Amino acid sequence: MTRITPQPGIMDIALYQGGASHVDGVVDVIKLSSNENPFGPSPKAIAACQASAAGLHRYPSTDHSALRSAIAEVYGLDMKRIICGVGSDEIIHFLCQAYVGQGDEVIHTEHGFAMYRISTLAAGGTPVEVPEDTRRVDVDAILAACNDRTKLIFIANPNNPTATMIGLEEITRLASGLPPQALLILDGAYAEYVPDYDGGAALIEARENVVMTRTFSKMHGLGGLRVGWGYAPKAIIDVLNRIRGPFNLSTTALETAEAAVRDTDYAAMCFAENAKWRERLASELDKLGIPSDKSEANFILARFPSEADANACDDHLKSQGILVRRVAGYKLPTCLRITVGDGPSCQRVVAAIKTFCEQAA
Ligand SMILES: *Cc1c(COP(=O)(O)O)cnc(C)c1O
Repeated sequence: MTRITPQPGIMDIALYQGGASHVDGVVDVIKLSSNENPFGPSPKAIAACQASAAGLHRYPSTDHSALRSAIAEVYGLDMKRIICGVGSDEIIHFLCQAYVGQGDEVIHTEHGFAMYRISTLAAGGTPVEVPEDTRRVDVDAILAACNDRTKLIFIANPNNPTATMIGLEEITRLASGLPPQALLILDGAYAEYVPDYDGGAALIEARENVVMTRTFSKMHGLGGLRVGWGYAPKAIIDVLNRIRGPFNLSTTALETAEAAVRDTDYAAMCFAENAKWRERLASELDKLGIPSDKSEANFILARFPSEADANACDDHLKSQGILVRRVAGYKLPTCLRITVGDGPSCQRVVAAIKTFCEQAA
C-alpha cells in the first residue's frame, strides 16, 4: 500500500474544457468555439516559423530579449518590465505560484476565466468568486470581498465569456482600494480588439500593485504556438523570472511571435474585419430576438430565453457543422459564446440560427 497523495487543492481542479473542434460525419466544419483568429497567423509569422527549423539544434534564448524588445517597440513599453511565457496561462501560473500559498485567497469574478481558479488551486490557495453586476465586473463587490488574506485579484478586461469591459477609471479605483498585500492582474487577452486601449500598461508603470497579461493566441493568431507575456513592475518581474524555466519558450515560438507582433498591418486588417463582422453578427441575432451585450472582443455572448433554447440552438448549429461554446460552466447556462469568424462564417452562423428560430416558432 502506498500513500502517494497530491498536495491539498489539486484534486479540486476540474479539467479544463476546450472548445470542440470536430463534428462526426460533417466535413465543412467552422470552429467558432475558441476565439481564434479566423485569418490564421500573419504570412510573415508563418515564414519565420519555417525559417526557425534550421536552427533547432541550438538551445533557445533564455532572456527572450529579441521578442521582448519587439513587443516593447510595437506597444510602446519598457522591455525590462516584460516577461514571456508559454501562453498567458503560464504567466497566470507563475503569479499564483509566486504569490499564493495555503490559506491565501485569490479573487476572480462570477463569469471569470477558468484558468484563474485552476492556477489558484494548483498553488494551494483558495479561489473566491465575486458576483458581477449583470455580466459586468463589479469593483465595489471586489473591494468588499478583500481581506488580509487576499493575494491576487484577476480581472479579464475585456472579459471572457461576457465580452464586456470596465473603464480605466474603475480599474484605477479598484487598484487604489486594495489592501497592501494584494496584486491586481489585468488579463488583456482581448485588449488588441479595443480601440485606443493600452490594456492598463500606463497603470502598471504608475503603480506597484498592478500586472497585465497578454497573449499571442487571439489577435496574433498563434494559439497553437503557446506564447504570452506579462507586463509588471520591475520587482515583480524579478520574482517571476526566478520560477520561469530558463528555456520555457522554444526558438520557433520566439521567432514566430516576434514576426507576428511586428506585422502591424496584418493586425490592423484583423482588427477592422473583426469590428465589422462583430457588429453585423450582433445586430442580425438581435433582430432574431437573441440579444447580446456590446462586445469589446472577438466574440459575442448570445442570450437565449432559456437554457433549453440555448442548448437546442447549439445542437442545431452542431448538426450544421458550426461549433460555438456552451458557457453553463461560467454560470451562463442560457447563453452561447460565438467567436466572430470571417464574413462567410458569420453569414453561415446567422443563417443557421435563423433556421433554428423559424423551426422553433
Ligand atoms: C484566450 C484567453 C487567454 C489566452 O491564454 P493563452 O494561454 O495565452 O492562450 C487568456 N485569458 C483569457 C481570458 C482568454 O480568454
